[in-house]
Amino acid sequence: ILELVGLHKAYGSLEVLRGIDLRVFPGEMVCVIGPSGSGKSSMLRCCNRLESFQSGQIMVGDADISRPDVDINAVRQHIGMVFQQFNLYPHLTALGNVTLALRKVQGKSRAEADRLGMAALERVGLADKAQAHPAQLSGGQQQRVGIARAIVLQPKIILFDEPTSALDPETVGEVLKVMRQLRENGMTMLVVTHEMGFARAAADRVIFMDGGVIVEEGTPADVFGAPKHDRTRAFLARYT
Ligand code: ATP
Ligand code: MG
Repeated sequence: ILELVGLHKAYGSLEVLRGIDLRVFPGEMVCVIGPSGSGKSSMLRCCNRLESFQSGQIMVGDADISRPDVDINAVRQHIGMVFQQFNLYPHLTALGNVTLALRKVQGKSRAEADRLGMAALERVGLADKAQAHPAQLSGGQQQRVGIARAIVLQPKIILFDEPTSALDPETVGEVLKVMRQLRENGMTMLVVTHEMGFARAAADRVIFMDGGVIVEEGTPADVFGAPKHDRTRAFLARYT
């Protein structure tokens, strides 16, 4: 569903991605871990061309987004994105945030958008907060609205960039629970996270990045239980 081949990216002379090869298969949840500055966010942002890249190929479904003639807005409709900072519009209700793209980008009627939006809010357990504004919601609830906003577009894949890093510890669990439910329902997800317990328990595959390359990848049991590389061991040691 998502394939990165030989991806290189630099900001000026700073090389942040130095040849990334990664495939995410339908229904998989792949967790990406690694130290700050290793290029995790840059990699995610390349996948919907929020960032340009110098060389390599990125396929989303059968669309090659490295091609200059690709209709990137069409491709972006298939890629959900959930950010660390929820990026909700403060003047819109939860339902308004979730239905915005349905109405403005897909041109759906208000009634149809509201129906789909309510179904998405139900999936994240927030149907009763549909009329609340972001300021009236906890961080965890705001992030669940962020997830509902992604799933309402029925994306092929959702990219998560540290979805729980900005949350109070008490609300981290509710967001991770929603993510697990999505996975059980077959959603394909690429998740950058510092929640090692979550990656270990819930991921199908774990990728360890350092210095702009994938140092190691495998099942959670492989990467956490028997890391092959010193850099992986050193990184994981900080979390135990
Ligand atoms: P973190 O865990 O802190 O979020 P990360 O693995 O997501 O880190 P990136 O945000 O991808 O890392 O950053 C990789 C490198 O690129 C860092 O050295 C960062 O300073 C640099 N960088 C990121 N964005 C930009 C930018 N817009 N312009 C210049 N340099 C950038
Ligand atoms: Mg980051």
